[in-house]
Amino acid sequence: ALQLCWLRNDLRLSDNHALWHAREQGPVVVVCLLCPTTWQEHADAPIKMDFWLRNLASLSHDLQALNIPLRVLEVPDWQDAPEALLQLADEIGSNGLHFNDEYGIHEQQRDDAVAATFERAGRSCQRYTDQLLFEPGSLLTQAGSMFKVYSQFRRLAYRELHRSCPPCLPRIAAQDQAPCASDPVPTELADFRASDSQRALWPAGEAAAAERLSLFCEQIMADYDAQRDRPDVDGTSRLSAYLTGGVLSVRQCLHAALTCNQGEFDSGQAGAVSWINELLWREFYKHILVCYPRVSRHRAFRPEMDAVPWRNDPAGLQAWQHGKTGFPILDAAMRQLLATGWMHNRLRMLSAMFLTKNLLIDWREGERWFMQHLIDGDLAANNGGWQWSASTGTDAAPYFRIFNPLTQSERFDPQGDFIRQWLPELAGLTGKQIHQPIKADLFNAIDYPAAIVDLKQTRQRALETFKSLGDSA
Ligand code: FAD
Repeated sequence: ALQLCWLRNDLRLSDNHALWHAREQGPVVVVCLLCPTTWQEHADAPIKMDFWLRNLASLSHDLQALNIPLRVLEVPDWQDAPEALLQLADEIGSNGLHFNDEYGIHEQQRDDAVAATFERAGRSCQRYTDQLLFEPGSLLTQAGSMFKVYSQFRRLAYRELHRSCPPCLPRIAAQDQAPCASDPVPTELADFRASDSQRALWPAGEAAAAERLSLFCEQIMADYDAQRDRPDVDGTSRLSAYLTGGVLSVRQCLHAALTCNQGEFDSGQAGAVSWINELLWREFYKHILVCYPRVSRHRAFRPEMDAVPWRNDPAGLQAWQHGKTGFPILDAAMRQLLATGWMHNRLRMLSAMFLTKNLLIDWREGERWFMQHLIDGDLAANNGGWQWSASTGTDAAPYFRIFNPLTQSERFDPQGDFIRQWLPELAGLTGKQIHQPIKADLFNAIDYPAAIVDLKQTRQRALETFKSLGDSA
């Protein structure tokens, strides 16, 4: 019988559980929904949705070669999904729907509503774990609860991976049926546009993702452990956007790393081990999202931290958002984000810590701003990263460990090359001056703002605020 496979953030033909199992059961029609109202409500960045659409166009092309039709339906809101999918199933005469699980309260509500609608109509609906190595809730402490500490979660994850490592499923095969037309994929959507130069940075499609993964494994992974904190070096995989859109799976990443490391997870080449560790952080935050639903509701992971008296400082927030803090490393980082949709991990931490500690501005403001601009915007990882930096999360940085952007700048961008790339107005400064230009600029000749805060004073303010909270909690 004809199977309907609903793809979302899993736009690939290889190692795709829903698509593979649907195809095993008969000829398949693939469906995707365009939901601009929901995307806007979730603050999804234009560059991210433009990338998703370009990946969909590439998938459509690949599906055509396999004689698998793609239907593209526009339903403004996820609430309209159950009806739209059931109607399509009726129209094409399909009895079964397949999709891969997605995480977050809204995603789960949407999927439960679709499953219930199909069930009521006497249709089957099959769901798969695909985005993760382990189903959330399947790795628990001995007491049966979700871990709150990453290293403990990782220990169990390693044990399970040693016992049985999830394999990659093969790419699906062509189907032998009368050719049937696919719906066109729009080349762009209003409110979700990216510039040509942004598009050029992120080539779409499964083949492009596979190419970047090979390049990373062959040329970058060996030095990953040593270079991963250096924004001035191309030292990380830059695969996050492909993982977020599901153009690449975590299993494909894991197996590529294992191949480079003689099949070892937690020993052998430091680069591979360290990279697998990051894939497990991704896993951890998604498990946290499911097991602690308050995180999905924009609440602090540690409930007592919802009482932090965050400052209302529109001018400070604006300066941070637009790269005008007067701290070159932070401003360069923000310009990188606004121009490319991506920011280096070390800078995401620095930037988040500055907003939540030195400016004492609510982490949710920063979380939203990042989401509105990241091409890899992912609720679990973004929320996890923000709550870590704000000391409100699992495993969070202790409140008294506050990064100093100047010393971090000297340490991780030692020649200032990263700063120079994004702040050309400082290109003339040499040596250490680049990290703190105001000290060098005796005659105010450089068009660059003065630092908006005194690091020492604001650090002290944050320490007192967080300490008093700890005392009263
Ligand atoms: P690599 O270093 O090559 O790592 C490989 C993969 O592991 C990444 O692609 C990503 O999927 C995963 N990963 C790496 N670090 C983390 C981490 N700390 N948490 C979860 N997964 C991780 N990552 C996102 O994918 N989406 C986000 O919206 C996001 N927001 C963040 C916000 C803040 C404040 C912080 C501190 C971190 C955030 N991260 C986010 C995590 C991390 O910064 C990015 O995954 C990483 O920079 C992506 O670059 P890469 O692909 O080169 O990573």
